[in-house]
Amino acid sequence: MARVVVTGGAGFLGSHLCRALLERGDEVVALDNLITGSITNIEELFGAGFTFVEHDVSTHVWVPGPVDVVMHLASPASPVDFERIPIQILKVGGLGTHNTLGLALAKGARYFLASTSEVYGDPLVHPQPEEYWGNVNPIGPRGVYDEAKRYAEAMTMAYHRHHGVDVRIVRIFNTYGPRMRPDDGRAVSNFLVQALRGEPITIFGDGGQTRSFTYVDDEIRGFLALLDSDVNTPINIGNDNEFTIAQLAELVLEVTGSTSELVHLPLPVDDPMQRKPDLTKARTLLGWEPTVQLREGLERTSAYFSSRVL
Ligand code: NAD
Ligand code: UDP
Repeated sequence: MARVVVTGGAGFLGSHLCRALLERGDEVVALDNLITGSITNIEELFGAGFTFVEHDVSTHVWVPGPVDVVMHLASPASPVDFERIPIQILKVGGLGTHNTLGLALAKGARYFLASTSEVYGDPLVHPQPEEYWGNVNPIGPRGVYDEAKRYAEAMTMAYHRHHGVDVRIVRIFNTYGPRMRPDDGRAVSNFLVQALRGEPITIFGDGGQTRSFTYVDDEIRGFLALLDSDVNTPINIGNDNEFTIAQLAELVLEVTGSTSELVHLPLPVDDPMQRKPDLTKARTLLGWEPTVQLREGLERTSAYFSSRVL
């Protein structure tokens, strides 16, 4: 049983993580400034063992009392936010990571960084192993997110080497599930909401670009497996079944029974053309494996959205 600080605890992944920690008996202090999160995501968690503090972690961070683990998930994560709030993204990846590492150092706590497959940019190596250094445009619109996360990884490893902080770094691949925002802007939420409303499904480009989609329960199980391991280097956690975006759109139509038409819009700048995790390390070092495949995960997520967007 541990006392765990979760930044971004009112967000999509953060709220699932808080619940999983509480379920295994940990005490949770969630910090969130609600820029993309919501109290609705965590309202059922309030009670014994759970505390919420509305706070911007890009400013000074302090939590009174003992802290065993700091898990830094705070960051807007949708490409639509890269254009809308770029400075906040750079700040929470840079200053927020530094501040939360400082908290972990002061408390003697383990530190867990939520990084991303975006550190690989538009990858020239496929699938992506953790050893791949990536292909990132630092000055493009996605650079605010990609470079903030690359900086966050560098800062985390510097605290590990220089200060001896016990660190974990997860590189998260496209994760979806209940409690995504309907207007989040990512492909899975956009397509499901559009299909349920009978609106056109917006495929960017020709739909030939690929992603490998992970159901949230698998992702959170992977977080905990990594947290409880002794692995200090970055680990990919994702699903290695790869789909084109056009295939995702067709599957969404099947799962929802929708007759929405498919429309094509311009491909965003620097949109990665392919993405799929090499899971060798996750499998061998953590004994972790994704179990929920895309159709089943979309059915569960569709059930969540259908009660909220119709
Ligand atoms: P989200 O937007 O739902 O959650 C992020 C949370 O962080 C929100 O509640 C937001 O209000 C909070 N936040 C942002 N800036 C903050 C700040 N300065 N101070 C305090 N709180 C702040 O997004 P998510 O999908 O749950 O992503 C969570 C983490 O996982 C992020 O670090 C993201 O980069 C990473 N990630 C997610 C995915 C994915 O597919 N969902 C993929 C790769 C990486
Ligand atoms: N995408 C799309 N239509 C949408 C939203 C996204 O075709 O309405 C595409 C997007 O261009 C990208 C893929 O779907 O190629 C995944 O986008 P998402 O925003 O979910 O995640 P990311 O680009 O960060 O992997």
